[in-house]
Amino acid sequence: MIVMKFGGTSVGSAQRMKDVCRLITADGKAKMVVLSAMSGTTNTLVEISDYLYKKNPEGANNIINQLEQKYRNHVDELYATEEYKQKTLSFLKEEFDYLRSFTKILFTSFEEKMILAQGEIISTNMVTNYLKECGVKTILFSALDFMRTDKNAEPDFNYIKEKVNEQLSANPGYEIYITQGFICRNAYGEIDNLLRGGSDYTACLIGAALKSEEIQIWTDIDGMHNNDPRVVEHTEPVRQLHFEEAAELAYFGAKILHPTCIQPAKFAGVPVRLLNTMDPSAPGTIINNEIQHGKIKAVAAKDNIVSIQIQSSRMLLAYGFLRKVFEIFESYKTSIDMVSTSEVGVSVTIDNKSYLKDIIADLMKYGTVTVNENMCIICVVGDLAWENVGFESLTAQALKDIPVQMISYGGSNHNISFLVKMEDKKRALQAFSDTLFNS
Ligand code: ADP
Ligand code: ASP
Ligand code: MG
Repeated sequence: MIVMKFGGTSVGSAQRMKDVCRLITADGKAKMVVLSAMSGTTNTLVEISDYLYKKNPEGANNIINQLEQKYRNHVDELYATEEYKQKTLSFLKEEFDYLRSFTKILFTSFEEKMILAQGEIISTNMVTNYLKECGVKTILFSALDFMRTDKNAEPDFNYIKEKVNEQLSANPGYEIYITQGFICRNAYGEIDNLLRGGSDYTACLIGAALKSEEIQIWTDIDGMHNNDPRVVEHTEPVRQLHFEEAAELAYFGAKILHPTCIQPAKFAGVPVRLLNTMDPSAPGTIINNEIQHGKIKAVAAKDNIVSIQIQSSRMLLAYGFLRKVFEIFESYKTSIDMVSTSEVGVSVTIDNKSYLKDIIADLMKYGTVTVNENMCIICVVGDLAWENVGFESLTAQALKDIPVQMISYGGSNHNISFLVKMEDKKRALQAFSDTLFNS
């Protein structure tokens, strides 16, 4: 059974929902379909939560009422029969009354998670009702019954695998199985989520759990482009990526994929295909285990990076220095992205600034610490094994006019990373496009 995930834009209006339903029922084969909230809804739910954190229930109520009206209009357009219009309107009434109930209670991060979950709950119910109205044999699974994270807030894959397979075995014979992306329960059974953009992660976890033939991520662009189309002109779709290449691009900022969603697909050996809902016949991008030798595939950028340089004459000929430095980051649950060492110092980058002050205070015991904020990692991805001569010089040459603070090469066979100022990101990405892809 294939798993198909449709993002916010793909279910962003009544017409788009109808298009998605046509797409998923075209061949009559059974499918697991993962849906995001309608585009803009999760942002609006975040806005509502912000008002409630700031103890402004009137502000929250206003936005809830506007959002409700928007959804009521969609209902009118989506359903043909009075029966399904009424059924969905009364579902929406319950949903929005539920949202309004949060304006009367003490608001914490637990309540925020409950509010954020409603976008996907609403979109999946609306699409399920539409499919039923069209006579399609369909069933809605609540992701809260099988998507769970563990005590480290990582997906509990064994649990997910057991529960989703149980659900399917208990409900045979349906054509379309629908579920929510993004939402889950945590190790304590509370409602939680897989972070923004997390519906991709849901789809890949389910695809891996079902040992699916293919996981399809349907979005608003014709696959992974060779550079960020939001920043650079003349980007092109990449037709094929190795799992590792896609994982690096996602982690280092290619928004088309959730940062960690490729891992489960890679471990299960399930190919992932990126497709365009607005142009379903476009070939998109296939992500699998194949390597195209000697080819640079794409560039991505990750913003808001902090670089930390620790210099110490004590490091000279000392063993154990790096361990002590890394232990400090570990003790603050802060992961390091880039590392660069010399005989008298080490530079690292992090993107989680929550414990920056404490980390700096601890590092100062070992030497002089220099911090630069507002940095950007630019990551060049492809078959960059060291035997492939010339790629280091080619990529460095592309950035000849841009100050580069750090370079990381040789950590994997798929990546060269450069650390530049965020203000130089656009110039750097454009320079890579001009040198690597458009020349
Ligand atoms: P969805 O709501 O379907 O999950 P997203 O907005 O999360 O869609 O991801 C698709 C968007 O990712 C595209 O519209 C595009 O602007 C952006 N994007 C950023 N980098 C890339 C890239 N390298 N290739 C394709 N799209 C990218
Ligand atoms: N609706 C969630 C978000 O906007 C999850 C997703 O769309 O992937 O982040
Ligand atoms: Mg997304």
